[in-house]
Parts: sequence; structure tokens; C-alpha cells
Amino acid sequence: MEEREEIRKDVPVTARRRRYRSKSQRFWKRYGPTIQFLLICAVLLAVVIFVAVKLVSAAAENFRPEETTVATETPTEKETEPPTEEPTENLADQPVGGVIYLTFDDGPGPQTPRLLEILDKYGAKATFFVVNTGFASTITQIADAGHALAMHTATHDFAKVYASEEAYFEDLHKIESVIEQYSGQTPKLLRFPGGSSNKVSRSYNKGIMTRLTQMVEEQGYTYFDWNVDSDDAGSSRTAEEVYFNVIRGCSKREASVVLMHDIHSYTIDAVEGILIWGLHHGYTFEALTSDSPTCHHGVNN
Ligand SMILES: [Zn+2]
Repeated sequence: MEEREEIRKDVPVTARRRRYRSKSQRFWKRYGPTIQFLLICAVLLAVVIFVAVKLVSAAAENFRPEETTVATETPTEKETEPPTEEPTENLADQPVGGVIYLTFDDGPGPQTPRLLEILDKYGAKATFFVVNTGFASTITQIADAGHALAMHTATHDFAKVYASEEAYFEDLHKIESVIEQYSGQTPKLLRFPGGSSNKVSRSYNKGIMTRLTQMVEEQGYTYFDWNVDSDDAGSSRTAEEVYFNVIRGCSKREASVVLMHDIHSYTIDAVEGILIWGLHHGYTFEALTSDSPTCHHGVNN
């Protein structure tokens, strides 16, 4: 009896297991190869996508510098077209080579370190007519990079600096001592706010520019105006406009003193293109010294 009962119990269990096993077996028998095939396909597809992405990104990296060069060089290529073409009005078509003195006024500013990196990348030197903006550590950086530090007055406040000769020199000596403190250099070069030809000073003190231009030279300073205006403080507010203003101006001259302002990001954005254009056409980029060619506008007050 006991045996019989055990047998009776076992029968349904074994039957159930057999039914279960055979169901899953049937499933795997039917769909197993398909699933295997799909899995292999998925793995292969993943490998192919991975390799493709790697190849594309490697190719993109190789092409990027060329694209940049082409984009920057595009105007240059136009400008160096052979002289068999009809003569054009644009003097930038016949760059004469020579020296370009890039000068940056009214800084340093937050973006001046970026400008220093660009200049350094091309081995170019420039001149910074600084004011007392509070970026003292950048003055140290400018000096360490081998550029010329020059004075543009401490406050750049026309009403203040052109009130009298005493007021002008008091302000000038302030920026002079800031430069000395942060660069260890004694600056000898200066630029008058508004340039020596400014007429604004007339409303504060008649004849002051006539007297100041003589006095600064008597005191051993050298002042510089500019003969190329980037117009970055005027109506040109894009890197492209600044770039074309500068290369057009420099094309006409063997010695260019270029007015720019390192407080505008679009000005700094224009600099790399200017350097590439200049170096490509045989120009050198140098810092002004007391021996550089004189560049004076002429006094109007
Ligand atoms: Zn200025």
C-alpha cells in the first residue's frame, strides 16, 4: 500500500516536470537559433558602430586645422592673386611687407591673457598703452611675455587729465608707478588719451596739447599716435571688420602703428587672422621702442 501510494504521488509530479521541460525545450528549439543570430548581429553592429565613430572622429581631428587655415587664409588667397588680373582698388592686394606695431589701449582687461597667448603662439610682440584698470597681475604677464608696457594715463578721464599740465603729469606718474611696481620696468613710451590730435582737450584747457607734446619729450618720454585705425572703438564691432580695417591699413605702409583696444573680445578674435596674414606677406610684428619711427598726428589744440 505504501509503495502504491508513493507511486501515485510521484506520477503527477514527474508528468508535470516533463511537460514543463518539454515546453521550454520546445521554445528554445524553435526560437533559440533566431535569438542567437540576433545577439550576434547586435554585437557585430555595436562593433561596427564603435569603429565607425572612432574613424569619423579621427578624420574630423585631422581635417580641423586645415579647415581653420583655409577659412582664415581665404581673404589672403584672394589678395595674392597674380597681377595678370585687372588692377583692383583694394590696396590690400599689394601688401608691401615691413613692420607692424600692434598697439593695445585702455587695458589690461579680463581678456588680455587670451591675447597674450595668441601673440605668443606666433612669436609676435606688441605694445600695451595701459590704464589703471586694476588688472595688475596682467601687467606682470605682459612684461614677462616681452611686450612693451607704455602709459595711457591712470584714469583716461579727459576732463581730469586735460584740466592742466600738472593734472596730466600727476595722472601719468600714477600709471608710471603702477607699471614700475608690477613689471619692474620704467616706461618711457606714452599715448595721449584721444591721441595728440584730439580736440576734446580744447574744451578743458586751450592749447594744452601743444604744451604737453613738448613737455613730455623734454622729460625724456616718447609719445606715439597711430597711422592705422582698427576702428574697434568706432563703428567696427566684429572681428571681421577689425581684421579688414587692419590689413587694408597695413598693406599701404612699411611701418604701421595700429590702434586697437584689448578690452573688446571681437578685437582679440581678429588678432590671429591679422598675424597669419602679416606673417604670410612678410611682415614682422614688433613692440615699439623709443627708436621706432615717429608716428604723430599733429596737434589741433
Ligand atoms: Zn584710450
